[in-house]
Amino acid sequence: MSIADNIKSLKKETVPINVKLIAVSKTKPAEDVQEAYDAGQRLFGENMVQELVEKYEHLPKDIQWHLIGHLQSNKVKYIAPFISMIQSVDSIKLLHEINKHAEKNNRVIDCLLQIYIADEETKFGLGFDEAIELLRSEEYTELKNIRIRGLMGIATNTDNEKQIKEEYYELKTFFDGMKQSFFRKEDSFDTLSMGMSADYKLAIEQGSNMVRLGSTIFGQRVIKHWKSN
Ligand SMILES: *Cc1c(COP(=O)(O)O)cnc(C)c1O
Repeated sequence: MSIADNIKSLKKETVPINVKLIAVSKTKPAEDVQEAYDAGQRLFGENMVQELVEKYEHLPKDIQWHLIGHLQSNKVKYIAPFISMIQSVDSIKLLHEINKHAEKNNRVIDCLLQIYIADEETKFGLGFDEAIELLRSEEYTELKNIRIRGLMGIATNTDNEKQIKEEYYELKTFFDGMKQSFFRKEDSFDTLSMGMSADYKLAIEQGSNMVRLGSTIFGQRVIKHWKSN
């Protein structure tokens, strides 16, 4: 099936209307993004700053770009002018830096806190306690040019559905608790980004309202880096 067909069938069959679909285009050429765009897709996710910036420059300006990969503080400046959402905030230091560059660009940048839920050593993210500590810190309350829209999490890469469900259930429960404790009056705390190609159906069952799909839309990624030949 073509990229356009994949998007259409996802929207028709498996991704409900209340769940936002982020098309993860990392490693894929700009033509693939354009094809998805022509099929009506406007939300795209990338995990590398340089690749994201190049695609932003070459593609239609009404695309809403989401950064979904680990972000180094010294690279925030490259995406601050245009990024729609940074889903991978994993420290107060990074949040501070995002705020600084958002202010320089006269804007407020939407962010998700990335929460560590997987049973793996390699994933970035804040622990539940660390996320609470961040939101309680005075430093956080002083940041006026960022807006925390919700949480993002990546489940363990496993075939064990029970484990994946439990991880997403925990994140949903934590999300509800955070909403009650810290964002009760803020309707903008509304986004729970969980689910990738392998597990998005389970994630939606557990209450996700944003899924990040790469290979389901664009096909398998080749391992090589997008710029090498
Ligand atoms: C690559 C990536 C995805 C998409 O992965 P697929 O398995 O291709 O759907 C989703 N979220 C994050 C954080 C990613 O890095």
